[in-house]
Amino acid sequence: DTAAAVSRNPATGALIATYPFQTPEEVEQVLSASEGAYRLWRDTPMTERVAAYRKLAAILRERIDRLATLITDEMGKPIAAARAEVEKCAATIEWLADHGPAILADEPVAVEGDDRVYVSYLPIGTILGVMPWNFPLWQAIRASAPIMLSGNGFVLKHAPNVMGAAYALQAAHEDAGFPAGLFANLNADNDAVAHVIEDRRISAVTLTGSMRAGAAVAATAAGALKKSLLELGGSDPFIVLADADLDRAVAAGIEARFQNTGQVCLAAKRFILEAPIAGAFTRRFVEAARALTVGDPSDATNRIGPMARADLRDQLHDQVLRTIDQGATLLLGGHKVPGDGNYYQPTVLANVRPGMAAFDEETFGPVAAITVADDAEHAITLANSSEYGLGGNLWTGDVAKGQRIARRIETGGVFINGFSATNARIPVGGVKKSGYGRELSHFGLREFTNAQTVWAK
Ligand code: NDP
Repeated sequence: DTAAAVSRNPATGALIATYPFQTPEEVEQVLSASEGAYRLWRDTPMTERVAAYRKLAAILRERIDRLATLITDEMGKPIAAARAEVEKCAATIEWLADHGPAILADEPVAVEGDDRVYVSYLPIGTILGVMPWNFPLWQAIRASAPIMLSGNGFVLKHAPNVMGAAYALQAAHEDAGFPAGLFANLNADNDAVAHVIEDRRISAVTLTGSMRAGAAVAATAAGALKKSLLELGGSDPFIVLADADLDRAVAAGIEARFQNTGQVCLAAKRFILEAPIAGAFTRRFVEAARALTVGDPSDATNRIGPMARADLRDQLHDQVLRTIDQGATLLLGGHKVPGDGNYYQPTVLANVRPGMAAFDEETFGPVAAITVADDAEHAITLANSSEYGLGGNLWTGDVAKGQRIARRIETGGVFINGFSATNARIPVGGVKKSGYGRELSHFGLREFTNAQTVWAK
């Protein structure tokens, strides 16, 4: 049905709900309500904004069972991960409530003479957030909470398969006492979204999703002279140097690649192994991947759930087949799990080289690509041989060497002896075709503000 958002359980194929797209009149109501709510909110003292956010965090925690089940039903992530997602939203909101006011406070600037100068971080209006399905609550909170704390409104255009989560989030905001319409869902097709971007009541747009979606939305925003922030996923390298602790590196690599069934923008996707340890790492990694339990995501013993949509599983399988065709070696998996649900067997490909699908493209599912590097220099070259530049992982026994290498890796983040993860305190975002702009931390809190200079003689 093209006139509705459809939510289907990816573990069974069963229809959960359909959400008919909003009519043009309903879209108009969303925009006019957001304009009114924004006017109220921008004049609401920071202490009251913070209080609303503390209430929202408490509500998310109270509803954790219901919300986690909803996420698992709608997009298939294992239930423990769904609970962790709800908790992460609450904890991030609390961090913002604790630290946001100081970060958004007027910033004095010392100038020559007695003039009093400061920079204020003022809201700019209502921001449209176009969000994906892989972390239905987290992606929306990560974008919206810093944006709204500074006094902006937020209209959420969520992915059609997770509209239940979108409405649950809207209800949570209403129950927490945010002005009605300040956090509002837009349920519409891409053409209608383009008109909303052009509407004078939308001031800017933030998008997390594919390059294709990002390019389309950013082009519309640019045409209307509006700022955009893009978080477009990546093909993160996971470099293991010869002096690394292999046991820890293997365990981290498994989590980094297979969490959320591999459907993570910051997931490790390309394993770049220095030649002396390549064989040992690969053997252990394949054994650990083989041991991952695949199945019903509502059963807490399963580590790998179904992929979110059947078409995404088809795309992933096609990438695997093309990579094998191009000369890679299949060490594990490489096929869909027969039966109901969009399950894909954890897969490991070796002898993957630049020019092959699993190296050049983002693999958004449980597929690891292994490439052997002659030495650390070659590993850096391989890591940077990607049009993406989101996160990076580097394993070495020598942290100082790792820090020197990090400066030469073209990504928004490098995690040494760990793996990429978001955290309220640090910025997240990319370079190259992974997008631009930063979310979270003081960067995220100020991205969609007017840094206004006030200079008094
Ligand atoms: P999309 O990028 O198409 O979807 C993400 C969001 O963007 C959805 O809300 C989608 O809505 C919206 N969108 C897409 N095109 C437009 C447009 N022209 N105008 C307005 N909104 C738009 O991702 P898919 O779900 O199709 O996944 C495809 C691939 O994208 C994945 O395999 C993965 O590689 C990557 N991806 C990366 C993510 C990340 O975290 N960075 C998250 C999800 C996907 P609608 O569906 O209605 O078009």
